[in-house]
Amino acid sequence: MLSYDHARQKVIEVARARRRAPATELAELGQAFDRVLAHRVIADRDYPPFDRSTRDGFAVRAQDVGARSGTLEIIGEIKAGDTFTGVIGPGQCVQIMTGAAVPPGADAVVMIEHTKPSKTRVVIERAVEPGQNIVPRGSEAKASQVLLETATRLGYPELALAAQVGEHRLQVFRRPCVAILSTGDEVVRVDEIPGPFQVRNSNGVSLGVLTALAGAEPVPLGNAPDRAGPLRGLTERGLEADVLVLSGGVSMGKYDLVEMVLRELGAEFFFDAVAIRPGRPTVFGTCRDKLVFGLPGNPVSTMVTFELFVLPAIDILGGAAPRPLPFFRARLAAPVSQRAPLTHFLPAQLNWTTGEPVVSELPWQGSGDIVTLAAANCFLVVPQAKLELAAGEWVDVFPRRGMF
Ligand code: AMP
Ligand code: MG
Repeated sequence: MLSYDHARQKVIEVARARRRAPATELAELGQAFDRVLAHRVIADRDYPPFDRSTRDGFAVRAQDVGARSGTLEIIGEIKAGDTFTGVIGPGQCVQIMTGAAVPPGADAVVMIEHTKPSKTRVVIERAVEPGQNIVPRGSEAKASQVLLETATRLGYPELALAAQVGEHRLQVFRRPCVAILSTGDEVVRVDEIPGPFQVRNSNGVSLGVLTALAGAEPVPLGNAPDRAGPLRGLTERGLEADVLVLSGGVSMGKYDLVEMVLRELGAEFFFDAVAIRPGRPTVFGTCRDKLVFGLPGNPVSTMVTFELFVLPAIDILGGAAPRPLPFFRARLAAPVSQRAPLTHFLPAQLNWTTGEPVVSELPWQGSGDIVTLAAANCFLVVPQAKLELAAGEWVDVFPRRGMF
């Protein structure tokens, strides 16, 4: 059975091989957050475009003051945005504001706090180094330099950078469409009153939200009963999207028909089990040239396996690089012990109250228990290779999306 990282690698490999250059669309900067850039962004000029003062103070010639203090003649004033035509000569200076261009002749700015100005003269009270409090022209970026590469995911600094260079609209890759189909005779719509042994379709909701958070367009297809005919019909509809994600019907039960129906439709499978809990019976394949995931129906399994396996596929089809799993290390509060030789993802609480990250497993009822997951802010990862973890050990933590 594949480990989760090998299974992930497989998904990445298959998604890359199937990736067609996604179509692009134009997005206003305000609408482009988290989209994937479809071209490079180039510096339209040097940044900063002039030698920029980083302080309110006086623009001086360092050599006039040097290691001593000194008195200089004030020959003018420069605000941010001003053009100053004069040249600073020996013994002269100009009052300057933050963000203004340092005038020719000056090579340092002295903070106002280190001076004693009068009307026409100023006493500089500290030693002055050439270059101090000046960001030289072109030191952040040179004109024509590539600032953002194609395939960059656009966060707030990237959008601010695009704005800075005047790209008020960006070409971004079209979001991939992800069809979401749950299965199960016992599953009813969330606005229905379930019978005593029925469950509401919570997976439709979690998968829709996770899909949107991943940067794709969810196409909700509702629920298919555990009968080959209707399941086949809805599966075929799902194959019109870029990715089809099914939930349920992938275990060994008599009515777990997803793999069979997909096989009849010509699917090729790359794995149908992964050495994880929850989520072991996860199925991944291609069908009619589309990526198909059959995720186990237990709600926590569905969410964990989406994050582990579907997310990198969406990244790739959306024109980006697959985001790495954002694992980090935390100290374990109490010992943890698992029996099954699988990598376990246990709902857990992470806190920093002692100044370092400490993680505590939450008692839970297994992969159907969304009540506990909603009280967790992360998964504690118990690796297959080490099922007994002692209190105080550093362990892997997989944050719940949006929690940190
Ligand atoms: P399955 O993977 O089909 O064997 O389903 C495993 C468990 O998950 C069963 O207890 C189902 O009732 C539950 N389940 C399946 N699909 C959903 C769904 N869409 N929403 C909530 N629970 C589900
Ligand atoms: Mg089922």
